[in-house]
Amino acid sequence: MTALTRSATDRLHTQFRGQLIWPGDEEYDAARQVWNGAIDRRPALIARPRGTSDVVVAVRFAREQSLPVSVRGGGHSAAGHAVADGALTLDLSGMKSILVDRAARIAVAGPGLVWSELDAATQAYGLATTGGVVGSTGIAGLTLGGGIGFMDRMAGPTCDNLLGAEIVTADGQVLQADEDTHPDLFWALRGGGGNFGVVTSFTFRLHPVTEVFGGLLGYTMDRATEVLRAYREVSADAPDRLALYAGLVAAPPAPFIPEHLRGQRVAGLIPVYFGPAYEAARALAPLLAVAPPVLDLTKPMSYQEVQQLADGLNPPAMHHYYTAEWLRSLDDQTIDELVAAAAGAPSPLSVIILKRMGGATGRVPADATPFWYRDAAHNLDIHAQWAPGSPPEPHVAWARAARQAAQRDSAGGGYVNFIGADQGTDRVRAAYGGNYARLARIKAAYDPGNLFRINNNIPPAVAAGNGDRDGS
Ligand SMILES: Cc1cc2nc3c(=O)[nH]c(=O)nc-3n(C[C@H](O)[C@H](O)[C@H](O)COP(=O)(O)OP(=O)(O)OC[C@H]3O[C@@H](n4cnc5c(N)ncnc54)[C@H](O)[C@@H]3O)c2cc1C
Repeated sequence: MTALTRSATDRLHTQFRGQLIWPGDEEYDAARQVWNGAIDRRPALIARPRGTSDVVVAVRFAREQSLPVSVRGGGHSAAGHAVADGALTLDLSGMKSILVDRAARIAVAGPGLVWSELDAATQAYGLATTGGVVGSTGIAGLTLGGGIGFMDRMAGPTCDNLLGAEIVTADGQVLQADEDTHPDLFWALRGGGGNFGVVTSFTFRLHPVTEVFGGLLGYTMDRATEVLRAYREVSADAPDRLALYAGLVAAPPAPFIPEHLRGQRVAGLIPVYFGPAYEAARALAPLLAVAPPVLDLTKPMSYQEVQQLADGLNPPAMHHYYTAEWLRSLDDQTIDELVAAAAGAPSPLSVIILKRMGGATGRVPADATPFWYRDAAHNLDIHAQWAPGSPPEPHVAWARAARQAAQRDSAGGGYVNFIGADQGTDRVRAAYGGNYARLARIKAAYDPGNLFRINNNIPPAVAAGNGDRDGS
């Protein structure tokens, strides 16, 4: 990194319409904080654009000044990729425009929106698209990494619902990417992460979502093995309209949790059925028969209520480490090991989550988008969470050991949006399976200098002839 030149920063101040926050400014410390309280990084400059033209100005400035660019959408990357020491951080959180076209069932959304905001806007019309299950997660990073949630078995991951994007590339150009325009770039944006430029607008396909039935089924921890087996058996034959998560978690101190269970480690299931209550009752009957809960909080809910079910598991300012694995199957030994791991977690806040995949996700070919593990049966997400002040090592070691314990069932890699920052290039490569080489070629075409490298990085392919852009 070179020292910033006076003439270039003067030009930036003249051309950039948004807010520029420099080290030493009053707002600097608050502006560099992200969701994961363990991340403490000091960007050279934080730029908050007001629109696409500001993004162009900032990207050109970063290139001229040889500054790496970190891009912040919702700031939820557990690895802290939204900020980096010495980088220009483009904080897009002010770009929250959203237009919903009810008749066409599409939404055009700004990159600063979080899922609770997008859901509110689309649900006003009885529509929704697959989104993250925690409301404060950014739509941008989640979509660019694939995007899984309650709706993916019915409607595919978020990336399958991305119809187009506006993007500012490393050379400062504004491109539209969709099936017809820059199709290779569009392909890469549907799971390839923030490697290809700064996305300034997302166009999503929406689906009618009005009647939803869901909630929490709670069990004491001594029944965890039985509960995970029931999750496995029942979800294998579940209709696409039934989403099912299983979790080994500490019950939150929420009013709906009986007092004696609050803070206790419990086994939980979250079923969500998209359809009327009588159909949901039929779909859930096999589950309730094999695993009757001590706590049944399922009921008809709005989609927005469903989307808040997991919010209580993530108190603010905590320190976090994520790791994950796609699983082809879930055998009895893996279940036993995961239950033992949960019981031995060094922090009561750490959780192990399993999510049934399949349905619409599995009916799309693995090379149709970068989202490779479409045939995985489960997503395993291990989330170490601890209070500030506690040293991270035991928590990180616990998460890694828990993931290792499931290796016998691995499909070959982990979900890119959940892999830990320190897990190296091999984990990024594995996350993309057979799609990695194509992603590296597209990276070479659109970002040959790897300006956008503060992410789950895919370095540009170096082989001659690999960097040709597709037609526009
Ligand atoms: C509590 C919690 C719950 C989660 N739940 C889910 C879930 O249900 N489903 C799921 O699929 N994932 C989930 N995730 C993972 C989530 O998808 C990733 O953390 C994702 O990166 C968050 O996006 P963001 O915009 O908030 O992140 P940021 O930290 O802002 O960005 C993450 C990455 O995306 C890049 N990026 C962000 N915006 C842009 C842009 N406009 N253009 C180009 N690159 C950009 C950044 O450079 C960075 O590399 C969850 C994460 C957390 C912490």
